[in-house]
Amino acid sequence: MPMNKIAVFPGSFDPVTLGHYNIVKRAAVLFDKIIVAIGSNPDKKNLFTIEQRLLFLQQSFAEIDNVMVDSYRGLTIDYCKKVDAKYILRGLRNNSDFDFEKSIAQMNQDIEPEIETVFLVCPPHLTAISSSIVRDIYKNGGHIQQFIPPSVNI
Ligand code: ADP
Repeated sequence: MPMNKIAVFPGSFDPVTLGHYNIVKRAAVLFDKIIVAIGSNPDKKNLFTIEQRLLFLQQSFAEIDNVMVDSYRGLTIDYCKKVDAKYILRGLRNNSDFDFEKSIAQMNQDIEPEIETVFLVCPPHLTAISSSIVRDIYKNGGHIQQFIPPSVNI
């Protein structure tokens, strides 16, 4: 049993938003270490490369000592085992997030009962923020600064 409570916060982070930032900031006091990890998903059409997204994550969380950033291929559960994390952190905005997340968490529970998925509910003012809408605004030349952490230089 590791002494440290390590959580993996997996996602696409294409790009990181204030919603992600809020979840990580609040979780940073609950866990000894959080690894914000970009899962490379070949089925998703990404706007930013993994390298760009890693840089944006580094810029976002540079000030929080116990937050690291990384990327991985394959199953999240396998990545958790590799880094000795017993917790998967996810954020919830609404019912559709919940329905989707519930199934994944339950199947992960079957595969690896020792790894717990922990959910944090986002505050009401961040419910509308999603990476996909931020991407649409960006692609169409709009301003995205108000939706991403101020330290991110996109
Ligand atoms: P994925 O492709 O795995 O959904 P995302 O980068 O879109 O990756 O999201 C990563 C995590 O952050 C997910 O748990 C998602 O529900 C959560 N999340 C995304 N936007 C918000 C937000 N505005 N508030 C809280 N959590 C959020």
